[in-house]
Amino acid sequence: MKRWIGFSRFSGLTRFNLVHLKNLVILSMVLSVAAQELNAQTPSKPAERHSYKIDLKVDFDRLTYTGTERVRWVNRGEKPTSVIYFHLYPNLRVGDQQFLTNGAPVDSDEPRIDVLEVRTGLDDTPLFSSLEDQGTTLRVNLREPVAPEGAAEVVIKFKGLVPEIDPDETSLTTHVVKQVSAALRSDRETRRARDINFRCRGVMLLGAAYPVLAVRDGDEWRRKVEPSVGDFIFNESADYEVTVAANPGVEVFTSGTETGPKNEKTGQTFTASALRDFAILAGRGLRSEHTEVQGINVRSIYLAEHERVGKRALVVAANALRVFTTLFGPLPFKTVSIAEAPLVAGLGSCEFSGLNIIASAYFVDFDSPAVRNLPEIIREQRPSVEESLEWAVAHLVAHQWWGAAVGNDPAREPLLDEALSSWSALLYYKSTYGEEKAAAVLNDQVRGVYRLYRTFGGDDMETNRPARDYRNTFQYAAIVSAKGALMFVDLQKTLGEEKVFAALRDYYQANLYEIAQLEDLRIALVAKAPVEQRRAIGRTFTRWLTSKRGDEDIAPPDQELAATLGLPTKQTPQKSGDKNALNALARVGKFFWQQVTRIR
Ligand SMILES: [Zn+2]
Repeated sequence: MKRWIGFSRFSGLTRFNLVHLKNLVILSMVLSVAAQELNAQTPSKPAERHSYKIDLKVDFDRLTYTGTERVRWVNRGEKPTSVIYFHLYPNLRVGDQQFLTNGAPVDSDEPRIDVLEVRTGLDDTPLFSSLEDQGTTLRVNLREPVAPEGAAEVVIKFKGLVPEIDPDETSLTTHVVKQVSAALRSDRETRRARDINFRCRGVMLLGAAYPVLAVRDGDEWRRKVEPSVGDFIFNESADYEVTVAANPGVEVFTSGTETGPKNEKTGQTFTASALRDFAILAGRGLRSEHTEVQGINVRSIYLAEHERVGKRALVVAANALRVFTTLFGPLPFKTVSIAEAPLVAGLGSCEFSGLNIIASAYFVDFDSPAVRNLPEIIREQRPSVEESLEWAVAHLVAHQWWGAAVGNDPAREPLLDEALSSWSALLYYKSTYGEEKAAAVLNDQVRGVYRLYRTFGGDDMETNRPARDYRNTFQYAAIVSAKGALMFVDLQKTLGEEKVFAALRDYYQANLYEIAQLEDLRIALVAKAPVEQRRAIGRTFTRWLTSKRGDEDIAPPDQELAATLGLPTKQTPQKSGDKNALNALARVGKFFWQQVTRIR
């Protein structure tokens, strides 16, 4: 049966050959057209991008903001349309929560955004708009249809607010307890809007605080936002000019690059091109340090008390950026930042275009006096927590190539950016420290995650499922990130490094600014493989993505650890921050603790 599955993929190869052939035909047509154009001295026009010009006023102390945005939308479809859609991500609610429309009392534990006015950018007359999908979609009716390749401008006024999150929800102990619970009870975890739109411990994150254009796939709008354990932000590339004004003394960092001096009244202007989102981080105690790597401003943003960790993160980010630029090609962004923010337990990190966030919980300076308050079992994990930070920084920097520059749908194919970013992190280790360290990290950060997951009774799964099919971060990390990354390790062996890197460079160039699919990656790999190896690529994809051979290919469950687990599973930690619950698990062993003190 398994062999048959192999065969079905295999017959799929013919299709790839056909696609490849088609690509060749297109390529030769393009080349001849290009040659004609060259003769005529007409430079080809790059595809036009959407653009946002946003003015935002943030009242840091009152947890509110108001803004006006002028959005230029370009119809890249084949049909005219007179309706455009925006996501209002802060209004996303999960489970039995409901978004309450105007007039109802505001739920102070959730962020929200209200649209005040929509006008045409042409002559400032009002446009009809309405909220759909429980307040998460804004539908705007244009006065006239926009023809393919035409554009429309709308001006939207909005206001929003963010919740204040209890610091206890964001401590390292709570993060670890949450991971232990996910491992022991396989709790379901779902990302919420408040995970990335909040204020906590004097830091405000506005991860997606403005109305943002929904993705238009051909002539079809992708309006539905489906909360899962994976990322829910899914946008097209756009150019940004954003001015942010905040209260005196509040430092503002964004996905963009500062342009011009700060104006006392209107604030600071930031610009950036080809971003998929525009995240804002603000706070009174934030510091930053930066360096330049291959024309990109690499920056680390951290709280004053975490300076040592922040400086370390900068070194890792700069190295990772250098390694990936050499391997895959240059990024289109001018600034790439790594920042800490007090993310809630369950979310170890999150990535935006040009700005990566790691939970402050993991920015631990183990030499500082504050660390004495941590449970001993966590303090003992110092090497693991520090190693994990390095891994997370490398993985997040890789997301600038996979996820930001080349987009993919995180709900449908989370594998694409997650697996590629984890695999890229392995390449960072190899290039920075050599083969031996890279092999140790592969065992520890990748194979180890899968092994622990299986030891705790998690089932092996297909790697290319939609994000909603994975229960929690524990499962997601083991299957999507770890097992997915191991497919690339396998391909490296079969095809040889040079061919895989060359294929990835082609994939990167071909899909830059676009939304890629797994199929695009497969085609890029097949194109670089000698004919006799093309079948092997199909088999490797099948083996790692659609079959359940993880125990053979990675590692079987750890029987010894499983045996020691009898007792602690009955004493499941109940409350966040319950140190006794952690101590009850103290005997479980080093391997366990190394794994659950990691950034996921
Ligand atoms: Zn990731």
